[in-house]
Amino acid sequence: MALQNMPPVTRGLNFYDLDDNLKSFLQRVAPDLLKRQETRLRDLGQWVGGELDEQAAYSDRHAPPELISALSINGKPGDRVNKVVFNAQYEAAQIEVYRRGVIGLAFEGKDPEPHTLSFIMGYLLSHTDISTHCPVTMTGAVAYVVNKFGSDEVKKKYLHESTRMDGLAKTGGTWATEKHSGSDVAKTTTIARQMPDGSFRLNGLKWFASNASSGLAIATARPEGAPEGGKGLGLYLVPSHIDENWTVPNSYEVAALKDKLGTRALATAELNLNDAYAIELVPPPHGLRVMMEALGYSRVHNAVGAAGVTHRALLESVCWMEHRETFGKKLIDRPMNQKKLIGMAVEWLAASALAFESAHSFDMAQNDDPSAKTWMRLVTAIAKHRTADMAVNATTTAVQMVGGNGITSDFPTERLSRDTMVLPVWEGPEQIQALELARVILGPEKGADVFIAKLKDIVATLPAAMKPESMSLNYKIGKLKTQMDDLVAHPETMEFVADDILHHAGDVLTYTLLCHEAGWEMTHNNCTIKQMAARKFAEHTFNPRNTGAVDPVVLREEFNALVRRTPPRPVAPKASKASPSP
Ligand SMILES: Cc1cc2nc3c(=O)[nH]c(=O)nc-3n(C[C@H](O)[C@H](O)[C@H](O)COP(=O)(O)OP(=O)(O)OC[C@H]3O[C@@H](n4cnc5c(N)ncnc54)[C@H](O)[C@@H]3O)c2cc1C
Repeated sequence: MALQNMPPVTRGLNFYDLDDNLKSFLQRVAPDLLKRQETRLRDLGQWVGGELDEQAAYSDRHAPPELISALSINGKPGDRVNKVVFNAQYEAAQIEVYRRGVIGLAFEGKDPEPHTLSFIMGYLLSHTDISTHCPVTMTGAVAYVVNKFGSDEVKKKYLHESTRMDGLAKTGGTWATEKHSGSDVAKTTTIARQMPDGSFRLNGLKWFASNASSGLAIATARPEGAPEGGKGLGLYLVPSHIDENWTVPNSYEVAALKDKLGTRALATAELNLNDAYAIELVPPPHGLRVMMEALGYSRVHNAVGAAGVTHRALLESVCWMEHRETFGKKLIDRPMNQKKLIGMAVEWLAASALAFESAHSFDMAQNDDPSAKTWMRLVTAIAKHRTADMAVNATTTAVQMVGGNGITSDFPTERLSRDTMVLPVWEGPEQIQALELARVILGPEKGADVFIAKLKDIVATLPAAMKPESMSLNYKIGKLKTQMDDLVAHPETMEFVADDILHHAGDVLTYTLLCHEAGWEMTHNNCTIKQMAARKFAEHTFNPRNTGAVDPVVLREEFNALVRRTPPRPVAPKASKASPSP
């Protein structure tokens, strides 16, 4: 759908209908899924743009969760317990989102949908509310590891509870971070004590536990007598209630709620585990590895969420500028603003390319192909880092584009820019993703070989009309290979170069994916918008100081194509003038 005649505010827009890029991705990688689920996605896009948006603004500004001290109904008379209370709109939204199948569809029934569907739904949710998307992320992560690692008994008892679509889903929590250990989960001090019946009791303080009202959490803990470090950790399922009917509360308590810069509607707790009932999901030495698998799932959600909010930032800017006039002319018709909006559109397409590939690679890695798993880990580390930075950049730019109003709570840009700040931090900040990338490169999976081979495979599929891009990409992939090979030859340099490799690999991967999409869209839809986006991305990324005079005709064409989403006439390539590096 072309972005013409946009309304002055985004509330009420259907974020699915406005997203031809999302549709193109699904047509390319999962056309049957699109046929089966398009109506559901369209309904979700409408709900996200309307009801959920209203809830998000209200919960953030007027009714964030509160910690109250209430009389315990299960304790002795006069006993008090801390309780987190939410406003009714937030609670209703939490029920609605799982009823719509955001997690359940990937697990329930005889033929579950691919995880890509959950990730795409997460992408749509984050257009509006990261505080709703975050619990979805953790619910999916819990369901994923319970399904993959749980015994038959555990699966029977708990999987359906977290994936049901009748409005009664037990949402998830992932409790890893402690006061002294966020990135360094291996230092976990929570103790797991085994009981005669085989269950465990956990004691410790979890320092960041989002979705504090979760029904089913996974927690890292160290069984009594287990060794220090990551090898001594198990992973435990902690239900919120301990009886069959989910009425008797488990023995843990919210000590405090974090007072945060953003995601204020999300209850992030300091959690005291006081002999909390738990079931061992995996014993040491597997606990850390399985928690990392859960985080691997969440990182994909982080990436798609970041891409979603990047799109919203663009839409906020377009809607505002379409209507605001200064000095007798609409802001959207002014060249400097058009250049900014083009930049935002390219960032959104770039973030989506990374996030969607991360989502798709997650499903591809569910089979036994080790190289698919390696590709997924590499792409996800890059996408987690890069898309989060893009989202922060996009929401900050959107605040500026909307001007003074953009900084007030009358406009979503204010909340979105605060909420987005968490995306680069949780699920592992930049340096942690850089170390993950370097470990896969240096590990037995020979990540550099897999990465470079896959990039080359993609380039080999580009149509003849993209010969200049193919040549440029081959050159850039060669340079990246040299850098990765250097690390393999000198592993002792890892801590010095991992971040540089993350950035360089991010540049080359993003350009490759954009070209891949461009080739597909050119061949299947005779559309060259994505090729234009890929060229703009390359120009901005690899040649940022090349600021020649702007041709007004070119600017108008780029604006119409990239921002308005009206396809330009296909142009015959000038292959003979190709140069190896733009
Ligand atoms: C709103 C919010 C909600 C959260 N919810 C949860 C939750 O539900 N469950 C949960 O378990 N956690 C949660 N977290 C915690 C979050 O996952 C951690 O904050 C995050 O992983 C970073 O860890 P840290 O805070 O200990 O930072 P640190 O580990 O202290 O990192 C600080 C900086 O140092 C860098 N750094 C760390 N180690 C290295 C290294 N070896 N080399 C180079 N640089 C390094 C990091 O990249 C970062 O830039 C939440 C955090 C926030 C802000």
